Amino acid sequence: MIYLDYQATTPVAPEVEQAMLPWIAERFANPHSPSRWGHEAEAAIEIARKRIDKAIGHKGGVVAFTGSATEALNWALKGTVEKARVAGSKRNRVITVATEHAAVLDTCEWLTEQGIDLTVLPVDSDGRLDLDLLAEELDERVLIVSVMMVNNEIGVTQPISAISRMAHEVGAIMVCDAVQALGKVELCDGPDLIAVSAHKIHGPKGIGALWMRTGKEPAPFIHGGGQELGMRSGTLSPALCVGFGTAAKLADERQTKDYDHVQRLWTAAMHALGPDWIINGSTAHRYFGNLSIRRDRIDAARLLADLREIAFSLGSACASGSGRPSHVLRAIGLDYTQARSSIRLGFGRYTTQQDLVAACKQIAAAAKAQEHLVA
Ligand code: PLP
Repeated sequence: MIYLDYQATTPVAPEVEQAMLPWIAERFANPHSPSRWGHEAEAAIEIARKRIDKAIGHKGGVVAFTGSATEALNWALKGTVEKARVAGSKRNRVITVATEHAAVLDTCEWLTEQGIDLTVLPVDSDGRLDLDLLAEELDERVLIVSVMMVNNEIGVTQPISAISRMAHEVGAIMVCDAVQALGKVELCDGPDLIAVSAHKIHGPKGIGALWMRTGKEPAPFIHGGGQELGMRSGTLSPALCVGFGTAAKLADERQTKDYDHVQRLWTAAMHALGPDWIINGSTAHRYFGNLSIRRDRIDAARLLADLREIAFSLGSACASGSGRPSHVLRAIGLDYTQARSSIRLGFGRYTTQQDLVAACKQIAAAAKAQEHLVA
């Protein structure tokens, strides 16, 4: 099995597994209980929190743990709307982009049922947001601008610092989905609320975090025992927090090494695939561990079925399951056939060049065989 689906999830780092084990077994105390064991668990969680904060690398805010990045984004968006309403603010508009993850798009859709005026901006054929279009939409009615840093389906980056500056000029809150960016690229400064997820950086599933700029915190999200600054109640899992913290520390320490490795892998993959493939999205503004490509006259779903020993994906893992062509590929202007002839190869820290080249050659050969059938 060759694993090339790093955007869906990443393999758990051995260091993460080792760090988590004691907190699953003998060190089982409730981190919020006043016993010595409880205090030890709490201290481990606080170390993890600092490590995540350091990996995010922004000053003037705090990290709150959540159950996933999806939860963090729901909290950021819904909580900001609620806070504004309680404060009697007249701001009622949310601006986002057509290529956002469903965690943002569906939450924004839900907000429209609560009376929010939503604008979903298009992207160009490179997958980039046109800042002039954004400028036309920005005014004092805008409460939130929500734009992701690195796209999960096509790897394209957005100019988040510039977008944040523009949002701030009209007094809006900048929300950023940095799930595919953390540990992979330098996080742009500017956002007020940043969502991240452990399992995309070789940590465990079931834990994410929301970084909140002081003064820009959303309203409390989960009510109960008052954990996480009284804003997101529920007993924290020391194992998951420690796993996330360890993954963040590793990502921080290895960022340049991992990045260089990914650049080399990208070049090797392009070479092994051959010239018949077209890259989806910008080649200049991207994270190179995400290779979204298409080839005329192939049926990507059949390719996936034919190559069971290689784990890769159509548009995104979510779109793969649904049978619907990816909204991101449609947003960059691909027609139905082009979207259905697209695959996504995701690689990173533990991918060897040998495996990647072998997989790409198999993919290229299977695609060629399909072309012959069609011809
Ligand atoms: N945002 C992006 C860009 C993602 O790729 C994902 C996961 O696929 C999410 C949000 C949701 O993250 P989680 O799995 O932690 O809910």
